[in-house]
Amino acid sequence: MSILLGAIADDFTGATDLANNLVKQGMQTTQLIGVPDADTPVPDADAVIIALKSRTIPAAEAVTQSLAALAWLQSHGTQQFFFKYCSTFDSTAKGNIGPVADALLDALGSDFTVACPAFPTNARTVFKGHLFVGDVLLNQSGLQNHPLTPMTDANLVSVLSSQTPHKVGLVAEETVIQGPAAIRQAFDDLAQSGHRHAIVDAINDDDLMQIGVALADVKLITGGSGIAIGLPENFRKQGTLQEGTAPQWPNVKGSAAVLAGSCSIRTREQVAAWKTHSPALEIDPFAISKGDDVVGNALSWAADRITDGPVLIYSSADPADVTRVQEELGREDAGSMVEDTLGRIAQGLVEQGVRKMVVAGGETSGAVVSALEVKALRIGPEIDPGVPWTTAVGDKELALALKSGNFGDVDFFKRALDLLP
Ligand code: ADP
Repeated sequence: MSILLGAIADDFTGATDLANNLVKQGMQTTQLIGVPDADTPVPDADAVIIALKSRTIPAAEAVTQSLAALAWLQSHGTQQFFFKYCSTFDSTAKGNIGPVADALLDALGSDFTVACPAFPTNARTVFKGHLFVGDVLLNQSGLQNHPLTPMTDANLVSVLSSQTPHKVGLVAEETVIQGPAAIRQAFDDLAQSGHRHAIVDAINDDDLMQIGVALADVKLITGGSGIAIGLPENFRKQGTLQEGTAPQWPNVKGSAAVLAGSCSIRTREQVAAWKTHSPALEIDPFAISKGDDVVGNALSWAADRITDGPVLIYSSADPADVTRVQEELGREDAGSMVEDTLGRIAQGLVEQGVRKMVVAGGETSGAVVSALEVKALRIGPEIDPGVPWTTAVGDKELALALKSGNFGDVDFFKRALDLLP
């Protein structure tokens, strides 16, 4: 069986978010973790998403990993390719969106792609090339304070232009509302005039569906998970996508825990909400850097409570505290130290019998999943927009909900766990 849509995602929660949208549109989807090797079994799925952790690594490494993932997808007859990044276009000053998109285009022998992070369901819209989060511009949304990828410019044409030597154009809303033929014409015009990338406006799901139709013959698509909602229909029209069974809630036995390493506004609200009804333990980055046994202490704290109900362990802190930590420990070192700690806590929790785990934070989820050596996730039903429950495929039956920092309702942690049988 060949793969209809093969995606490369720059972080774990982003991959899950994309998978979730494809599942909702009728594609059976499996997420693979890390670059698969030659003997990784090809999942029995319409769409395969390879989740990397390449958002904030050096651009050259992100390119190497993305090309390896692409080669695996190509070797399994993948029809169309997708490079997935965050709906808030999270990137560093050096990339990695531009460099990876360029490298994938080169490898595919293509000379044009689109960049559309819009995800209106989650209040991410693009208008006149500017990215809005809710009613405010990206650079006023709190994302300007992100620990690793501060976004200080909402104009995506200029953000992407700074990451690629090639020309970046815009397909504006007034063209998008004219439908697929007009959009396709705009792609052709931009490609003809030497543009290699096109930011595409989208302010609602109807726009995304129209853009999806226009993308039927585009070999590589880049964007957030929203732009994927219009793609399954193309395969259905071609007759290559068959109807499958509806996804199920994971059914695992064991205790439950929440790990939060995101410092985003929404995660901090979710942490505060959890603390009103259930036990929570804060991880202090300075204690980790001093060499305290943070992991051991957290695990014995959890062991005393976990049999009575789910616990939360979090490092989430407000921007002032994050700045203080970063000034003293360095931005990247602080990030990886906290990620490593939460990963080791996750391992210990599973040893204590935890089988249901909610994780908040893209990078944090990546760290947890690799610490747990999870290689593939079968995507289940959606909890909140962009976040499904998933089942780890392999020897350990584990239910995982991997949430990007700003996603989910305020009571997400509890509600997600309550949904499981
Ligand atoms: P989001 O999905 O909100 O972007 P991520 O997990 O991707 O969340 O990124 C948050 C980053 O901040 C991670 O690298 C994490 O280790 C780091 N971090 C978490 N807590 C703190 C803290 N208290 N101080 C500094 N950095 C932190």
